[in-house]
Amino acid sequence: MNNTDSLLDKLAQVAVHIGLGLREGQELILTAPLEAAPLARKITEQAYKAGSSLVTLLYEDDEATLLRFQHAHEASFDQAPRWLLEGMADAFEAGAARLAIVGNDPALLSGQDPQKVARANRARAQAYQRALELITSHHINWSIVAYASPAWARQVFPHDPEPVAVEKLWEAIFKASRLDTPDPVSTWKAHNQALQSRVDYLNQKRYAALHFKGPGTDLVVGLAEGHRWGGGSVQAKNGVVFNPNIPTEEVFTAPHKDRVEGYVRSTKPLSYQGSLIEDIEVRFEKGRVVEAKARRGADVLNRALETDEGARRLGEVALVPHSSPIAQMGLLFYNTLFDENAASHIAFGQAYRECLHGGGQLSSEELAARGANQSLIHIDWMIGSEHLDVDGLTADGRAEPLMRGGAWV
Ligand code: ZN
Ligand code: ZN
Repeated sequence: MNNTDSLLDKLAQVAVHIGLGLREGQELILTAPLEAAPLARKITEQAYKAGSSLVTLLYEDDEATLLRFQHAHEASFDQAPRWLLEGMADAFEAGAARLAIVGNDPALLSGQDPQKVARANRARAQAYQRALELITSHHINWSIVAYASPAWARQVFPHDPEPVAVEKLWEAIFKASRLDTPDPVSTWKAHNQALQSRVDYLNQKRYAALHFKGPGTDLVVGLAEGHRWGGGSVQAKNGVVFNPNIPTEEVFTAPHKDRVEGYVRSTKPLSYQGSLIEDIEVRFEKGRVVEAKARRGADVLNRALETDEGARRLGEVALVPHSSPIAQMGLLFYNTLFDENAASHIAFGQAYRECLHGGGQLSSEELAARGANQSLIHIDWMIGSEHLDVDGLTADGRAEPLMRGGAWV
């Protein structure tokens, strides 16, 4: 465990210095699954060493979540802790940074009534909307890191005894998060530069659309007007440079909500708020999902799509090469933070303001006019593989190859 202990230290350092870029005197709101206490404490230590004025640590308990679904009164599922989520929004407005440790059981709610799951998610999303807006608009610096909890490890390595599974998952997390190097903070700076050069290339190209072709997929994704590509580190409105996701391999931008045509098939199962959705097949017309199927979890998928009008449209398109370390491990993590970085992906729902030039200043109406989608949900799902080809389509209709067989051209 000593080796894991020193790697946890490294992960905590990367989380605080690269993930958050935490500033002296800045407050931090940290959420973590109960099992992740060892990492949460190390991050707390690093945050105070970096000069944080106050770290507020909130634990989430999967068992307690399950007890609600087993025993709560019917009306419970339209309720959310508004006081807490509003309070978090207040803290972000006042300048607090936000770090989430993920690692909850990916299949926790897969046996529960999908209607209750959807209602609970919707109530929470509504109460969390103001806080989420402050996060997605990069009002403050924020980040997400992972902890190898036993329930998650058992799902990823079902044929191993639990201690072995946990060790294997840690190894995968450390590798994916570039911690298996002597100086992870410098390694991350170099990785951020590599992503930035890809972002610069795509921004200078200003494609009108991307064309995805692969088994079960022939999809044209129009891009929002004045779209901007992003990837790796970003600068928050408070001036802090941070990495929203540890790990991260993607470059991404905003699709045009009315200009998506064709059909697309998922290449990896999606773990969505405790349920698994597999073999998704979706058809788009004029940007809108007109048909959605899934071999497993179709109920959960279709209910998510009914959240609001924007839920049936795309809010993100992202390119990830099949050579990324996460893709090369060939593992299914059942966790979007990792799986979305193993494959090119698209997301139903909310678009990021940062994906539009001047996006931070635009009203809802102006965002919509440029094609940026708005919704209470944002669900990434994976469409990339070693069989995926991607072309960039120019405004005058020329196709330029971007990816062949999942690799950058
Ligand atoms: Zn993404
Ligand atoms: Zn996304």
